[in-house]
Amino acid sequence: MFTTELATVSYIGATILFILSLGGLSNQQTALRGNLYGMIGMTIAVLATVFGPQVTGAGIPWIIGAMLIGGSIGLYAARTVQMTQMPELVALMHSMVGLAAMLVGFSTFMDPEASKGFVGAARSIHEMEIYIGILIGAVTFSGSIVAFGKLSGRIGGNPLLLPGRHWLNLVGLLVVIWFGREFMNAHSITDGVMPLMVMTVIALLFGVHMVMAIGGADMPVVVSMLNSYSGWAAAATGFMLSNDLLIVTGALVGSSGAILSYIMCKAMARSFISVIAGGFGTASAAPAPAGGPAQPAGEVFPINASETAELMREAKSVIIVPGYGMAVAQAQHTVNEITKLLRQKGVNVRFGIHPVAGRMPGHMNVLLAEAKVPYDIVFEMDELNDDFPKTDLVMVIGANDIVNPGAQDDPNSPIAGMPVLEVWKAKTSIVMKRSMASGYAGVDNPLFYKDNNRMLFGDAKKMLDEVLTALKA
Ligand code: NDP
Repeated sequence: MFTTELATVSYIGATILFILSLGGLSNQQTALRGNLYGMIGMTIAVLATVFGPQVTGAGIPWIIGAMLIGGSIGLYAARTVQMTQMPELVALMHSMVGLAAMLVGFSTFMDPEASKGFVGAARSIHEMEIYIGILIGAVTFSGSIVAFGKLSGRIGGNPLLLPGRHWLNLVGLLVVIWFGREFMNAHSITDGVMPLMVMTVIALLFGVHMVMAIGGADMPVVVSMLNSYSGWAAAATGFMLSNDLLIVTGALVGSSGAILSYIMCKAMARSFISVIAGGFGTASAAPAPAGGPAQPAGEVFPINASETAELMREAKSVIIVPGYGMAVAQAQHTVNEITKLLRQKGVNVRFGIHPVAGRMPGHMNVLLAEAKVPYDIVFEMDELNDDFPKTDLVMVIGANDIVNPGAQDDPNSPIAGMPVLEVWKAKTSIVMKRSMASGYAGVDNPLFYKDNNRMLFGDAKKMLDEVLTALKA
């Protein structure tokens, strides 16, 4: 059992470990250590809370039972989920944080015991915490559920644009503020429930509306924003439960998520405020459904595996650009084998990583690290975009939107303005994909029709295996 002093010391220790964890996760070399710090910190945090002064003896079996059920489901999900389904899982987990904040808010409000001892200004602050906590929780919950639907393809990628959507949001906000006043002035629990319910419904609808209005390739910003919201929802829960560690941890997640959102917005040349207001990726050219056949816009030049190997052998410098298709095909290990072989032959091989490649931040870095590609040849887009004109060969492996010149040339494109890897400036580029289908944003890619581009059609893993065999021959 933890005394109050021991629990406080444990909370401080856990906070330090969480900060070290975030620091570790900012770099691939230290990411493993960062994860370890996080795991140790969380274990200490859970033990100090469950066996701490805030939980009475009778509650412990319930908590342990709930943890066993929740832990088993989490363990099963983490072990069985495919790497390509990871973003959906993360979105679903964010929704759980939002749901927890909502439920804790309602139960804190309904339970007279929980509000005991709060009088005067302290009571008003406590009620405000509940109101804001449920508000953030509800937006996070419904927004994350819709994000889950969009990322898993259950909900279409096209933006839903209601007429006067910004006015709708504004009216919703005013109604939420009005009912907030009603809630704060309520004299009994029964009086307070109605405004709380109205606000919850509006917040849920706002979450749905916000994410439904996002289209094209702008989902990454929303995913990282929901990550940030889930942190604030956890912090709000911490306030409601008077749990300092939860407040600190929530604030850490909330602020790091906000920084990530800012980085993503910058990477996609989007304004943060406009993303929150919804309706991005909605330029006049309506995107076709992702994965659907793109409109033919010229002639393409197919190539086979042995010709690809031949071009590789002749090249002095090669840049590999991986995308979502590499994750689908699980081709990263073969990519590493080819990289090793080319480097042994003295070819300068580098990787170019777009900030939104794949379906979650850092998706490609994780896959390349798993395949043991050396970190020092993996570069961010900005670090290597100027080098394409000096490059002999670019291998685009299952990437599409992130190498689309239309983002620069076509102001009507749904991805207009998004910085892209300028692979077409290399001497030759080879795009590896199964068909002429579009990527996540659902737009055609003029790169495919360039004179210096070749298409290697087929599953990335299968084709790269063939290229590897041809290279070894
Ligand atoms: P894209 O979705 O643009 O393109 C991936 C391409 O991979 C497809 O065109 C597909 O073509 C091909 N592909 C699929 N399976 C295979 C396979 N087995 N073998 C070979 N090729 C395959 O991916 P990018 O990485 O280029 O861009 C990411 C997109 O996802 C951006 O629009 C981004 O905004 C969005 N997004 C990113 C998130 C993030 O956080 N990173 C989150 C949510 C969305 P084909 O079917 O012809 O094989």
